[in-house]
Amino acid sequence: MAVDLEAELISISVVTDEATGRVSFSDVPQRILPALVDTYGKQAVANAIGASPGELEMINTLELGGVRPARYLSARPDLATRVAQIEAEGLAHATVPYFMAAINLSDEAVLGKTGAIYFVCRKGCHFCQYRHFDEGQLTPEGIAERMLALQQAGADNIQWVSPSAYTGVLVKALALAAADGLTLPVVHKSEGEDSLEDLRRLDGLVDMYLPDIKFIRPEAAERIGLSPEYPERMKACIREMYRQVGPLKRQKKSSLLQGGGLMVRHLLMPNGVEEAERVLDFILELDPALPVHIMTGYEPLHAAKDRPGIDRPVTDDEIAQVAEAAHERELTRVLVR
Ligand code: SF4
Repeated sequence: MAVDLEAELISISVVTDEATGRVSFSDVPQRILPALVDTYGKQAVANAIGASPGELEMINTLELGGVRPARYLSARPDLATRVAQIEAEGLAHATVPYFMAAINLSDEAVLGKTGAIYFVCRKGCHFCQYRHFDEGQLTPEGIAERMLALQQAGADNIQWVSPSAYTGVLVKALALAAADGLTLPVVHKSEGEDSLEDLRRLDGLVDMYLPDIKFIRPEAAERIGLSPEYPERMKACIREMYRQVGPLKRQKKSSLLQGGGLMVRHLLMPNGVEEAERVLDFILELDPALPVHIMTGYEPLHAAKDRPGIDRPVTDDEIAQVAEAAHERELTRVLVR
């Protein structure tokens, strides 16, 4: 049965900085755009969803790749074998928690009009913007139906947000959707510590990896609320993603995405310049041409409000220091925004 996207749950986080009046949104589903404009004004919403000149400039530096179909389409019939293996391991039959499936306009500009399905991440970062959102449950069939509905609604790609805990179910869902006509490229946006086993299950199926590097030095774990083992897992994960798809490419000069590859993100934290510099060093070692987005919109939400050191937004000076660090390293595809 076709899914009615209009009837799907919508959850977003909206934060107004009292000092500057700046409004930021966690995500902006296209469906509620008019309501957000009515409430917060056209400019505030445009700032959140529009591609900045710097972003367009960085995208224009990406190498042109050839036009090709989504990877999973040429992975058939291997995809069926993979699903059979995943089913034999008992990994394809669970239901998975999610909180939204929507055409989304506020993500990376490089994604264009992305059809995003937000799965629930329970890693528990102190400042997670997705905390306390209402949840639903999806079977592989339910996920496949939503991917097809997003394609039908005009999405440029399908984006799995926080997919790491649900790989088996997602591979099964992808096979079901492909059999029913899904042709859009798949973007995998994770927290950057997917296991190598899971990444092998995804090899040849995902078009674009868009992982976050949450932190890189074990001593920063406490600040974030994750495990000190995260950096080792993250480094292995990013290297494997790079091996699979290489750096992000675009398909033609005028397009914002439509190309595959790896792009890395890192959320700059207050007092986090040194951490960001170590992230840039890691990128430099991996591939100086890799596109990186250093995100500067950190907000001290939830438990972070009461944790000294991460209880404020980042400053203009911190942002400038990270931009300078990227410049010093001659990394040319770093967006600091
Ligand atoms: S990894 Fe991301 S989605 Fe998961 S809890 Fe942390 S901030 Fe939230």
